[in-house]
Amino acid sequence: MLVSAKEMLQKAKAGKYAVGQFNINNLEWTKAVLQTAQEQQSPVILGVSEGAGKYMTGYKTVVGMVNGMMEELGITVPVALHLDHGGYEGCLKCIEAGFSSIMFDGSHYPIEENVAKTKELVAMVKEHGMSLEAEVGSIGGEEDGVIGAGECADPQECKMIADLGVDMLAAGIGNIHGKYPANWKGLSFETLDAVQALTGDMPLVLHGGTGIPEDMIRKAISLGVAKINVNTECQLSFAQATREYIEAGKDQQGKGYDPRKLLAPGFEAIKATVKEKMELFGSVGKANA
Ligand SMILES: [Zn+2]
Repeated sequence: MLVSAKEMLQKAKAGKYAVGQFNINNLEWTKAVLQTAQEQQSPVILGVSEGAGKYMTGYKTVVGMVNGMMEELGITVPVALHLDHGGYEGCLKCIEAGFSSIMFDGSHYPIEENVAKTKELVAMVKEHGMSLEAEVGSIGGEEDGVIGAGECADPQECKMIADLGVDMLAAGIGNIHGKYPANWKGLSFETLDAVQALTGDMPLVLHGGTGIPEDMIRKAISLGVAKINVNTECQLSFAQATREYIEAGKDQQGKGYDPRKLLAPGFEAIKATVKEKMELFGSVGKANA
């Protein structure tokens, strides 16, 4: 059964590790993440962007697939199904469809409107036993057509949003979605430290986990980051493994064109990436911690 992300993230924050949010795109992605979480005995968050939700034909399909798969694969580790960067309307749809967690990305609204809409959603998710992530300060790069500049959040604004009763807070600390440019300045630990000092026990979320050096990831966790989003890295490893299969001409040998064979190397590559991240984040073996 799906669970809210609240408890797993509170435990992670207290235990100084982070739970990975791995974005899913289809059946192979979902199966790879769920199986790896079970094998590693790690809690996990399945992220679904609005675009990926649409691609999979809608949120109800996603909920049906994830619930069915958890039952048939015998998944017993804590799993949250989380809307990634939801707009207000998308949040309402996911509450109705049976997600267990949502992110309201109100970062593009003026702070007053972000506060008002976040308050409404806090009340709704509490009623449904779900968890809510809010964002302050836009996170750079492009996600589903929303382009941000990689700014650093105002710690006072973070406190204001945290105090509304959200369960986790994404604060921009110079992180970027997608691949990092060569001239990237790195994470602003000064900002992270200031946000953490004002928000206390609030689990902080690091978006754009792909390409951040491992020592920076470890330092961010030590400074209060309890959830790290991974999306692009699984896409890159899936694409790489699929490319190698095709380039080796394996799709033209025997029944190598069978999608169950064609997609297998990419599937295994996602599993390997997820395992590597769980080890780096320290969430391995924490399913029942
Ligand atoms: Zn993000």
